Amino acid sequence: MDKCTICPHKCMIDRTKNFGRCKAGNKIEIGGVSLHKFEEPCISGENGSGTIFFSKCNLNCVFCQNYEISNLGNGRKIEVEELANIMLKEQENKAENINLVSPTIYADKIIEAIKIAKLNGLNIPIIYNTNGYESIETLKSLEGFIDVYLPDLKYYYEEIALKYSNIKNYFEIATNAIKEMYRQVGVPHFNEKGMIIKGLIIRHLVLPNNLENTKKVLEWIKENIDKDVYVSVMTQYFPTYKANEYSEINRKLTKEEYQEIEDYIYKLDIQNGYMQDYSDENEEQYVPKWDY
Ligand code: SF4
Repeated sequence: MDKCTICPHKCMIDRTKNFGRCKAGNKIEIGGVSLHKFEEPCISGENGSGTIFFSKCNLNCVFCQNYEISNLGNGRKIEVEELANIMLKEQENKAENINLVSPTIYADKIIEAIKIAKLNGLNIPIIYNTNGYESIETLKSLEGFIDVYLPDLKYYYEEIALKYSNIKNYFEIATNAIKEMYRQVGVPHFNEKGMIIKGLIIRHLVLPNNLENTKKVLEWIKENIDKDVYVSVMTQYFPTYKANEYSEINRKLTKEEYQEIEDYIYKLDIQNGYMQDYSDENEEQYVPKWDY
């Protein structure tokens, strides 16, 4: 592609010669591969989710837990065929699914890798685990290749999207993307082991001192998305990367904040989903060791 328009930034640059906002080149780059046990229960299951972490990102979140690969850009360049082989190896290792983390900026190449892997026997569900900043055209090109969409809906308020992720129009773009994802895969379906095989799960990370943002996000989901879609409210936030430059998010959630959001979920009568237990522990356990 000589004018990259994969994501809504639409940088229109030739990635073989120049870098756009995401700083990704023309080759896929990965930060790590693992059988990940810290996803939602219907994704991790007993064996773990066959997670492939992609390097670089089209957002620049100041609190990114994966900043070493997303923002600092560490990673290893691989060919499409190697990505297909990684997927097949994950299946061989009994992964419950293939979990593509921050895949957006390589979406065109990921489709090629999935085609090769499927021709060679890949038959476990494929999960598209994204920050939600997606273009509708790219999502349409993924139709039929992705079984489960796992988008974030990070921000309702423009002001904090700009402040923490340097992004404009996030809410409008992410909500339109989520509607397209729902059109493609619908409500979650599970197999006999309770593992998701198809459908949409919307994630939201609660930020300290930003509870109104979380409430607005939950309200939008309640009012606009099928009640059978799952909502995953994540409370694992801990300050990392550049979060210490923003005093209001330079701490974990308090027990009171956690309780307030839990109460609000009940008040809205959100039927399906997950909320992590409150924990004082060091949540860095959720961050993989990057092996590139
Ligand atoms: S994928 Fe990267 S280069 Fe392409 S439009 Fe998005 S930010 Fe720009």
